[in-house]
Amino acid sequence: MGRLLIVSNRLPVTVSKRSGNLHYDRSVGGLATGMASLEHGDQLWIGWPGLSSEKTNTKDCQKIKTHLKKEGCVPVSLSSGDIRDYYYGFCNKTIWPLFHYFPSYCIYEPKLWQRYKRVNERFCEAVLDIAEPEDRIWVHDYQLMLLPQMLRKHLPEATIGYFLHIPFPSFELLRLLPWRMEILQGLLGADLIGFHEYDYVRHFCSSVHRIAGVEHTLGTLTVEDRPVRVDAFPMGIDFEKYAHAREDAKVQAKIDSLVRKMGRRRIIVSIDRLDYTKGILHRLEAFDWFLTRYPKYRGKVCLVIVAVPSRTRVESYVDLRRQIEHLVGRINGAYGTMDWMPISYMYRSLPFDELVALYNVADVALITPLRDGMNLVAKEYVATKVDPDRHGVLILSEMAGAACELSEALVINPHHKESIVEAIHQALEMDPEEQCSRNQRMQQRLSRYTVQRWARDFMDSLEQIKAQQQKLASRKITHSIRAHLVESYRQAQRRLLLLDYDGTLMRFFTQPEHARPDAELLTLLTKLCSDEKNEVVIISGRDKETLTNWLGNLDLNMVAEHGNWIRRRREQWQCVEGMVHDWKIIVRPIMELYVDRTPGSFIEEKDFSLVWHCRRSEPDLARLRTHELRDAVVHLTENLNLGVFEGSKILEVKSIASNKGTAAERWLHQEHWDLILAAGDDYTDEDTFAVLPEDAFSIKIGQGGSRARYNADTVSTMRSLLGLLTGAVSEQHDTSTTCSV
Ligand code: UDP
Repeated sequence: MGRLLIVSNRLPVTVSKRSGNLHYDRSVGGLATGMASLEHGDQLWIGWPGLSSEKTNTKDCQKIKTHLKKEGCVPVSLSSGDIRDYYYGFCNKTIWPLFHYFPSYCIYEPKLWQRYKRVNERFCEAVLDIAEPEDRIWVHDYQLMLLPQMLRKHLPEATIGYFLHIPFPSFELLRLLPWRMEILQGLLGADLIGFHEYDYVRHFCSSVHRIAGVEHTLGTLTVEDRPVRVDAFPMGIDFEKYAHAREDAKVQAKIDSLVRKMGRRRIIVSIDRLDYTKGILHRLEAFDWFLTRYPKYRGKVCLVIVAVPSRTRVESYVDLRRQIEHLVGRINGAYGTMDWMPISYMYRSLPFDELVALYNVADVALITPLRDGMNLVAKEYVATKVDPDRHGVLILSEMAGAACELSEALVINPHHKESIVEAIHQALEMDPEEQCSRNQRMQQRLSRYTVQRWARDFMDSLEQIKAQQQKLASRKITHSIRAHLVESYRQAQRRLLLLDYDGTLMRFFTQPEHARPDAELLTLLTKLCSDEKNEVVIISGRDKETLTNWLGNLDLNMVAEHGNWIRRRREQWQCVEGMVHDWKIIVRPIMELYVDRTPGSFIEEKDFSLVWHCRRSEPDLARLRTHELRDAVVHLTENLNLGVFEGSKILEVKSIASNKGTAAERWLHQEHWDLILAAGDDYTDEDTFAVLPEDAFSIKIGQGGSRARYNADTVSTMRSLLGLLTGAVSEQHDTSTTCSV
């Protein structure tokens, strides 16, 4: 297996130069932990080490390279001009505010955009220098949105994943960006594009559609014949690390010291980078309001604010810091007494042991960003609330990606100060048992969907889409395959044609009863049936009355209701019997996986069926997951007699007497066939494909994964192919038989 090349703006090792000496600090952030958990052979991390090229001479550069190589890192050199115009410029003055819904903070400066492109090219060169054909490349975040396409240009076959760690804005916002098309095209160079939550997936797909004109089908876009998958992978945390942190003596000592200092006062904690997206000013104003409305809490509660310095060279951040510190001063001045200050303010980053000690002692975490891609602090806080009491209340903004998974928190709109005030009050008054039960439910989810699982899920999806691409590429019906089919047909003395009806021989209509066969189809079928070497079987999900009505006059075999009814040529309809129901042991774990990945969904068990309900889930996500689940179940249970049915916001798997495959087998085993041709368009036809011998010609109409050997674009492609066999269409005139992925 090839290596995993991780590309991000910063390396997990920061290099600095103090008193002429080089220093290396390794960060143990969430991303590094997730990556470390991957079993993907060797890893190499490519990124900027944090020191501008002007501060390093040739000797330093060599030393840095050698040292970083030992740490599995490859440095990309950036000048102070790059950092100014690319990082502080385009990344943080254009993309960051726009993608966080602060368009008024954006500047659209061609000079900054040019530098962004140049730095992305620099990263591209760094990857190309070391990439080998078997490597997988995983590009991270908004600083490198052009990189996937740049890499694709040089490495057309490469496996490239991309993950955006910030929100993806709605089309209305993205359209403001003069370079929106280039950004989208840049991202579409990847095979898999991941976001934290499903809303971002929706926004991305809608922007790609409206700006680049590319449509998606259930999260798969086709970009120049290459399927590109877009999906949500909510990033988790290293749950065990936070849950067990206080077993460490150093952390326990910090907890004891905090408890001693705070006495009986209740602690509300607020921890973020100092950024305008985090809503720190709104939060402070709400706390001010809380102290006015609920004076009994004066002297009894303390708000501990940790503002981690960030982007300190951007003016708006300098200004925000000034405003925050002014407001903290005003509130402390207004309410503080000789022995109590309502707000304890720190402008620095806390090391892990201090941070988790603070999480542990905090009665409430007040996390109210105005917009946040995910927010890991919220998850980390909940993870520390373990035995013996699990007490602590999370107040969380609905604008944070994490809110999708932490629905048991007190979820508020950060712009609605009144609701923050009431949430603080509710949190402080909440019954301990309720706190415990809310935290327990959130912890169950957090302990399952960890950062390790996030990374594995992403890599598994990347491998799946790559496999799908390779399979599709090899399934195009080329001229030579078509010629081979025609020749085999001509030479065969006995031929079996297993043909699905809707979506294969006849296009879809809004009203299913309108899909009555047209004259062209009737002529085609009559011609096929009139050749005595042919045995034609129409295998449909339709009821037997409709099939009799529409095709009853033709000399062919029919299968109705996905295999439950069979009518042989010139005979009567017969019902198939026999039920199975020991399949739940296989299906239940898959459904459980989808319950985990789809907040709000659940499983209902009946005697002969399992039902996955998703009425309470986000509608678009529910639709996507329903289709994915259906595919997963169909592939896993293909040899079992199960029916997979999609209803209104449910997917039901139940025992049925037969399927298209078992029905097809009746003809397959009847005699020796010189040629078998099967065609179908949807998952029920997979049952037919599954029972075919290897040398059969099987064709799936439309795109998407299938057991069929070949793909044909449309119904008319399929009809032309059949016409070619009967001699009704000649190869020269057949313009629609370009079967493709
Ligand atoms: N963090 C830290 N020290 C601090 C404050 C925060 O190490 O003083 C860490 C925190 O544990 C979390 C990360 O910084 O893992 C912040 O991630 P989050 O998604 O909450 O916000 P971001 O800064 O990425 O917008």
